[in-house]
Amino acid sequence: MAAPTVAIEADLHAAILAWFAVRGRDLAFRATADPYAILVSEAMAQQTQAARAADYWSRFLVEFPTVQALAESTPAAVLRAWRGLGYNRRALALRQAAIAIVRDHGGAVPDELEALECLPGVGPYTARAVAALAFGRRVGAVDVNVRRVLSRAIGGSLEAFGTAELQRIADASVPADQPGVWTHALMDVGATFCRARAPRCGGCPAQPWCQAAPSFASPRGQDTPVSPAAPESPVTAPHAAREAPVAFETTSRWLRGRLLDLLRDSPDGAWATLPAAMGSHGTSAIAAAFSAMVAEGLAERHPADPWQARLPLA
Ligand code: SF4
Repeated sequence: MAAPTVAIEADLHAAILAWFAVRGRDLAFRATADPYAILVSEAMAQQTQAARAADYWSRFLVEFPTVQALAESTPAAVLRAWRGLGYNRRALALRQAAIAIVRDHGGAVPDELEALECLPGVGPYTARAVAALAFGRRVGAVDVNVRRVLSRAIGGSLEAFGTAELQRIADASVPADQPGVWTHALMDVGATFCRARAPRCGGCPAQPWCQAAPSFASPRGQDTPVSPAAPESPVTAPHAAREAPVAFETTSRWLRGRLLDLLRDSPDGAWATLPAAMGSHGTSAIAAAFSAMVAEGLAERHPADPWQARLPLA
């Protein structure tokens, strides 16, 4: 039998909501109630900072204002609109999700968790976020930020709960009357205060109740000062300081991004010639990166010339 779920204290709950009402982030996609627009925002925010994703979200919706418009688009058009967001397979998956919504759900984003999770590119987190934000479902969306806040505040450490127990806690914490607001509030507390390293407990609304806060107080009893505009330091393993940093330009991710931009810059449907070298990458690296992109649906190879490429049209 499963252990009883740990409940979030009512005062902690109220403090987070009160802080969010005054200090929550004013992100463009938080003003919409359109399930499709919310799905787009969550797809963009999966591996991109929310504030940055918000800029792209507005432009994307101008080009693809409805789920039908996205479903009828070409992969090439969506990949061009995704430029700058990175992790480009998300764009293809979002288009496939739109196709599935039109084909299987009459063009309306499904409101049930199970149906949402069946959409391409939609995992447990995104499905719960859309269910809570667009349809007012009492389900907890647990991303890395929310995981840190709930684990530390209620359990005292990041390792306090297993995945299933944390999900139960997150679900049980969602208030019946404002699941969307709670979802945003927890995300903002995580992004603003509960950083992976050196959380800023001094200004955190959860601090009076937080089980982990005492362990983050400085030797002089001073918490890390709050500076919402300051960027978070990257998380590094203890041994990382001894390793030479890898320049991004030397990575296959950089190379794939540049190859994709080359194709984006070509006229729709036109074939572009791949270069023999790009940055520090030679012919074999380019051939390998391009083959992977073709396999993933990000590029199309000319049937008669292996060095000619374009964005897929279907
Ligand atoms: S008080 Fe500190 S550790 Fe606790 S939730 Fe807030 S930022 Fe995280």
